[in-house]
Amino acid sequence: MNILVLNTGSSSLKIALYDTRNPKALWSRHQEDDPRLDAVLASKPDVPIDAVGHRIVHGGSRFRDTIRITPDVKNGIAQTAEIAPAHNRHELAGIEAAQRMFGVQMPQFAVFDTAFHATLPQEAFVYPGPYEWIARGIRRYGFHGISHQYTSRRAAEVLNRDPKSLSLITCHLGNGCSLAAIRNGQSIDTTMGFTPLDGLMMGTRSGSVDPGILFYLQKHFGVTADDLDATLNNNSGLLGLSGNSGDMRAIEKSLDQLDPRATLAFDVYIHRLRGGIGAMLASLNGADAIVFTAGVGENSARVRAATCHALGFLGVRLDASRNAQPDGDCEISAADSSVKVLVIHTREEWEIAQQCARVIEAAL
Ligand code: ADP
Repeated sequence: MNILVLNTGSSSLKIALYDTRNPKALWSRHQEDDPRLDAVLASKPDVPIDAVGHRIVHGGSRFRDTIRITPDVKNGIAQTAEIAPAHNRHELAGIEAAQRMFGVQMPQFAVFDTAFHATLPQEAFVYPGPYEWIARGIRRYGFHGISHQYTSRRAAEVLNRDPKSLSLITCHLGNGCSLAAIRNGQSIDTTMGFTPLDGLMMGTRSGSVDPGILFYLQKHFGVTADDLDATLNNNSGLLGLSGNSGDMRAIEKSLDQLDPRATLAFDVYIHRLRGGIGAMLASLNGADAIVFTAGVGENSARVRAATCHALGFLGVRLDASRNAQPDGDCEISAADSSVKVLVIHTREEWEIAQQCARVIEAAL
């Protein structure tokens, strides 16, 4: 089967075309800044396409698995856009662009970033607010599920173990950052919540902060809900603290120049990461491996070294040379490390293509 995958983020567009027998894409495009989907789609190779798969960030309470897109499913995605407006609206535009290009007969599938976390137990997904929140759908959903699912399965392959026999912590560290605690192939805890703003410190997002800060700013500084939304999503995290950039590469350069604000940003980032990993370790009663993935996780030896150093009291030890230059998907821990540490290149688009193929084959 040939499957076209659209990953339409708020600021970037990733497209890939796969023959589902081969993880190497037949064709792909990655565009930052003002991505115009119709123009990019027009440049794809002229091969027959069997289906289109879309990454949808928020599935809400309704969508717990990959599903064929019907008018009703599209409405459901639009309703969830109220919770994640920066994401689901772009994805709806992607679905419509694909409909224009390929016609309404083309099977299209929604693959949700929340779906992998549908297995969270109640104590992990319920917020300790009023009980009525649960009925209103206010709960932890978790995100980056496509990546956590792929990297956990791939980690089991690299370790040559059955995924059903492993406890793993996957660290997706990109512009957005989240952790998942995965037992026997299922997500049992994660750091992102009702929205992708919860949990770890990120490139431009704050992650968790004391909610009391928000009332304080509203009451004493006349800050509105929209201001808070923009500040916490776009002007916090590495960018907010460093005052310079939300990109870890730029932070690392400034660290080398002993810039105090970049140093603060880096130290807070690692402190939050260490605390998050500790929480996931406790949820799992210990882990077999910690897996680093996404832009920062795959490329920053410094972030991995600082994080693992902070976990040294547990007996976590890196092999310094393997950490400096990991060779593809591999183990980077020292032979005597109490927990294995891996680097895995995430392949969200490939995972989406595989999930679409699975649903198509199950319906045959
Ligand atoms: P997204 O979360 O948007 O999918 P990515 O997973 O591609 O993003 O991660 C992008 C981030 O990865 C960049 O903002 C940058 O901070 C980080 N990154 C990429 N390459 C490197 C590198 N060599 N060293 C440190 N950080 C890197």
